Amino acid sequence: MEKVRKKILIIEDSDLQRKLLNRWISNHGYTPLEAISLSDAREIISKDQVDVVLLDWELPDGSGIELISEIFSSSPIGWLPIIMVTGHTEPENLKLAIEAGATDYITKPAKEIELLARIFSALRMKSLHDQLRETAIRDVLTGLYNRRYMEERIEQEFQRCKRHKHSLSLAMIDIDFFKKVNDTYGHETGDIVLKRIAFELKTSLRKSDIISRFGGEEFVIVFPETGVNDATKVLDKIRESVSSIELKSEAGENFKVSFSGGVAGGDITEIDNPAELLRTADKLLYEAKSSGRNRIVS
Ligand code: GH3
Ligand code: MG
Ligand code: MG
Ligand code: MG
Repeated sequence: MEKVRKKILIIEDSDLQRKLLNRWISNHGYTPLEAISLSDAREIISKDQVDVVLLDWELPDGSGIELISEIFSSSPIGWLPIIMVTGHTEPENLKLAIEAGATDYITKPAKEIELLARIFSALRMKSLHDQLRETAIRDVLTGLYNRRYMEERIEQEFQRCKRHKHSLSLAMIDIDFFKKVNDTYGHETGDIVLKRIAFELKTSLRKSDIISRFGGEEFVIVFPETGVNDATKVLDKIRESVSSIELKSEAGENFKVSFSGGVAGGDITEIDNPAELLRTADKLLYEAKSSGRNRIVS
């Protein structure tokens, strides 16, 4: 397997310093990215998957310390190890940087071996953090996002799409007569059905769609930048194909399942908050259930 090269962002306004750090980093098999100002750095961090930040204190458009709190408040990134590389040698400054959220602190002139050792340690921390976060946001059975994460994302996507006056759709789906599947074929078979439906959703929807297991046999999907008609169309196609899948129980019996769904949103300019969107989707789901199941209502 090809090893993914870790990306180290160097935020440094001195050309000489930047070139030096760049050379050390490249020589050790990392990919260096360069920023000469805070605004430069913001741009790169928002677009690129950065693994470690090397941060100078004094920059032409402000103090590196400002950037630290910004990185931590923009939650999609989550957490990034930040190593201050600075000419400020007073212990007071070290304290200030660490309290602001810096992971580590090196004073200039930095030594190559020391810098690389600190990067190594920062990468190890990042990897542990990423593993921990993965387990915190995923549903164990299906590998989809869990409810807690979804609630966070709905809020973010809702605000983002509203701000840009873009459409956003939200679907709530629920397996039909799922209790009967468990009662007839056993709980293990029920679990297989949940995994299969999760798989169908994952493989049929776009990468930008956010899919979660919201409750026991309920799934919530957020379709950013998508109108209700489009979201309904794709979901209906998945509904159609799921309802035709021949499933096999643990004991070898063949059976089929279906699901029902409600799709809300589209133009969200008149919708005040994401809870309202969820409520509407839930209401539409109820309509789909009471009008016969195995259908999508929008
Ligand atoms: P409806 O068509 O009205 O949705 O009927 P239903 O039977 O699907 O609805 P109900 O809410 O009565 O039942 C949901 C069932 O989902 C009950 C519960 O045992 C089952 N369930 C919830 N979580 C899991 C799980 O993790 N694994 C399995 N196997 N079953 C689960
Ligand atoms: Mg500087
Ligand atoms: Mg249910
Ligand atoms: Mg159900």
